[in-house]
Amino acid sequence: MRYPKDLAVWEYAPGRRLAQIVLRLKNVKGALAQVSNAVSESDINMLSGFDSASSASSVGVWSFFADITDSRHDLETLRRKLLALPVVIGVEILLADDGFMVDKHHFPVRLSNRRALILRTDAINEMVSHMWSVFGSGAATIIDQMAEAIGRFTAEELIEDFGKEFVVSTLEEVLQTYTAQGFAEIEVVRGEDPESMTVHAKNLFECEANALSKLRRKSLFFRGHLRGFMSTIFHADFEVTEVQCVAEGDEACSFAVARVESVVPRVAASSEARD
Ligand SMILES: [Zn+2]
Repeated sequence: MRYPKDLAVWEYAPGRRLAQIVLRLKNVKGALAQVSNAVSESDINMLSGFDSASSASSVGVWSFFADITDSRHDLETLRRKLLALPVVIGVEILLADDGFMVDKHHFPVRLSNRRALILRTDAINEMVSHMWSVFGSGAATIIDQMAEAIGRFTAEELIEDFGKEFVVSTLEEVLQTYTAQGFAEIEVVRGEDPESMTVHAKNLFECEANALSKLRRKSLFFRGHLRGFMSTIFHADFEVTEVQCVAEGDEACSFAVARVESVVPRVAASSEARD
């Protein structure tokens, strides 16, 4: 069972008083419990938000929208009450009286400590469709090359962060980053040799859109990305073939991933033979 991960850009509750409460906390056991108790005691309804508390950091952030219409404290009293808790390092409270509030308090957006941009799948699919209408089948090459470059870049970052040996030894878990980032629900089935595998990608964003639009195109972006990713991890050429696709009526998309056997060119081979 997988659960959606919602990133709230705004909160909209007509007729209600909203606030955004941002807390910097000591990254210790029970910190969230202490703070949420104090907020609840003030009759504040906690809405969407996020918390970030990496195991490597001594400080965490908990930030959330809140409905403060029925709050029994004014905001300054609440701020002082929260600041008085030993686990709280800092408190900021922003107010919106008209029931609409955009999260303008957090910048930059980061994915696991690296700057990111939240881009909706509809926007990417629209961009790809537009490229098809301008460049025709040439769009496939552009998207494929672009995706491969991003896949290579992503793999290089992972190697930089964790080291190649670690990435190779935990590859099945590493490939779940595609799930974590919203590409698709990934399942990896290893092949007989350690460098071949089948990657099942359920609800893959681009093929789902293709199935709906009846254009019946297989994956371009994910396939290119995965090829660039695997080629960089193993420092070898890989081929990725989509063997099943929802846009062609299959239940889910599946990709066969295999290392391309290096073929010694005939001229070079015969020249070596002469030596
Ligand atoms: Zn597909």
